[in-house]
Amino acid sequence: MTDKTLGELVSLKGRRALITGSAAGIGKAMAARFAEAGADLVLVDIDEKKLKESADELREWGVDVAPRKVDLSKKAEIDALWDTLKGTDPDTLVNNAGIYPFRDFLDIDEEFFEKVYAINLESVLWMCQHMIEARKKKGGVIINVGSIEAILPFKKGMVHYDASKAGVIGLTRGLARDFGDKRFRINVLLPGGIVTPGTKGAATEFFKGNVGLAKTAYDFMARIPLGRLGDPDEVARAALFLACDLSSYITGALLAVDGGFLSA
Ligand code: NAD
Repeated sequence: MTDKTLGELVSLKGRRALITGSAAGIGKAMAARFAEAGADLVLVDIDEKKLKESADELREWGVDVAPRKVDLSKKAEIDALWDTLKGTDPDTLVNNAGIYPFRDFLDIDEEFFEKVYAINLESVLWMCQHMIEARKKKGGVIINVGSIEAILPFKKGMVHYDASKAGVIGLTRGLARDFGDKRFRINVLLPGGIVTPGTKGAATEFFKGNVGLAKTAYDFMARIPLGRLGDPDEVARAALFLACDLSSYITGALLAVDGGFLSA
């Protein structure tokens, strides 16, 4: 039994969290909650302008915020990022960045597939490797962002995405098994339908000239027990739970934040 108070258990004071894809959407919401909980932040994204805006806002919480422009599809940029972090490596890593372009399976070519895989899965693997190498004597927390799509593929034209996110789940659970004894807790969040700039953009593409897809959207909504889409902050609060000491005995877990979608 811990003698920490509830406030201490939820606090991230004295912690440093690196969050990828934190210039927008779910990652930005996570950064806001982590800053509120007292964590210093390393914000990673390819969008330098939005990243800087985000960093300026978050400094108002009185925490240290370091924005880093990185194209996560390039391993060399990931390696260079971790070189700059030496000595101030994060104790918490959130691999949130991901892309979800629609494309019919029969139209997928090598370039398209490699891009989706590089960002959604390979970058997660290299980021985890750097983190574990940097903290192999100290341990830490890793939160990877998967998707309900990896468990229950629902939307057509997302086979490449489903495969990449299923990989994130396997990677997470394998690492949790291998590095639990080195004091790493490694879990995966499975967001459901969350309203973000990414999903708004995808929805526009989705509906362009294809009225049949309206039925998929209707069926998707009809399946959600809570009857609505989610807000990025609702995923951010689940990430905070996995990051802080409230979840000290949780590793290798899949946590769906989906309004009950997977259970229905
Ligand atoms: P978003 O598109 O709104 O934001 C993603 C962020 O990642 C952006 O700031 C973007 O610039 C950044 N990014 C994209 N490619 C990058 C690259 N190569 N290098 C560095 N940064 C890059 O996305 P979101 O909806 O907030 O989704 C976040 C994560 O949650 C993704 O992994 C996504 O697959 C997952 N997810 C989202 C939903 C949803 O409904 N929104 C559902 C399930 C899973």
